[in-house]
Amino acid sequence: MLQKKINKKRTKIASSHAMTMIEDKSPQRTSIAQLGEFGLIDHLTSNFTISQPSTVKGIGDDAAVLDFKDKKVVISTDLLIEGVHFDLAYMPLKHLGYKAVVVNISDICAMNAKATQITVSIAVSNRFPLEALDELFAGISLAANEYKVDVIGGDTTSSQKGLIISITAIGEADENEIVYRNGAKQTDLLVVSGDIGSAYMGLQVLEREKQVFQVNPNSQPDLDAYTYIIERQLKPEARKDVRTLLHALEIKPTSMIDISDGLSSEIMHLCKQSGVGCNLYEDKLPLDPQLINVCEEFNIDSTTVAINGGEDYELLFTIAIDDFDKIKGNPNFTIIGHMTKESEGIHLITRADTKIPLKARGWNAISE
Ligand code: ADP
Ligand code: MG
Repeated sequence: MLQKKINKKRTKIASSHAMTMIEDKSPQRTSIAQLGEFGLIDHLTSNFTISQPSTVKGIGDDAAVLDFKDKKVVISTDLLIEGVHFDLAYMPLKHLGYKAVVVNISDICAMNAKATQITVSIAVSNRFPLEALDELFAGISLAANEYKVDVIGGDTTSSQKGLIISITAIGEADENEIVYRNGAKQTDLLVVSGDIGSAYMGLQVLEREKQVFQVNPNSQPDLDAYTYIIERQLKPEARKDVRTLLHALEIKPTSMIDISDGLSSEIMHLCKQSGVGCNLYEDKLPLDPQLINVCEEFNIDSTTVAINGGEDYELLFTIAIDDFDKIKGNPNFTIIGHMTKESEGIHLITRADTKIPLKARGWNAISE
């Protein structure tokens, strides 16, 4: 129920941005050269505040200082390059900033840890006015507030072409809470949070609208039927709640990973690192009704999308079979399969009860 409400809220944000997504028509253009490097850093970072007790010193010195006392520290970093990882034709800069933070926090969540700090490094070409960077940092700031992480530093430099963003996320956990990819056992259940496949189809809709726009720049996209899946692509959320939910259920996953490249490729990672096989059940895959409709419209098999589409940032994990009663019927989680002996391999059991080997394909492979 709560998830439904959150989804409704997300949907509203998506539709309000849908119309502005195609082009940034911001009339104000202040050249970043005018401010100079230090002026720019001050301008971009002056609003960040510190709320984590582990942050001793944030922005403003040669390095930040952190104190995690008796906790273990987890760190993850990502590099996003314009034209490779994002396309500003349909990705508003504010969403990009938000998503760049979220994908890193998702990696911390996938360790069953709590994200506490981030650093933000950017390289920008002079094609971007100050107002564009303000939008980017508004998204970064929104995510930092939403996920309660302190922005404790970064680097700002110029690039010859395009925009590059690198975010590093830092988190904390007790040593015995941390969940790795390599702990799955032969009889464990395979569980996923939320629903999957929607972020990929959201991207397909945006790609289609971009092409329509290139042919007819005056066209106004009508995206009402696609709000949820577009939101999943443009404004994904990291499942920071899963740690709390599982803790309340007294479940510690035996292995865990976040779904960035696609379900099948993440299953392969868990299996390979844990030395187990897996049976995944087609009829158990959690799909949003809107995704099913859009797959029909695009004439794409929704199972293929759910298995190979990426960027949902849900969490995929295994639990001991003894924990079945604790998780069954929980609206936040779906049991989608079980682990097997390594020698049995990794298979999808279809609705027709046939067994087909699962291949690790990134989400780019769908259109091949
Ligand atoms: P240095 O010369 O040591 O690289 P800078 O002048 O680049 O230092 O940075 C000054 C301070 O601003 C540092 O604390 C640095 O971490 C922070 N900072 C620089 N760029 C960013 C950014 N894009 N986002 C957040 N903090 C930043
Ligand atoms: Mg620097």
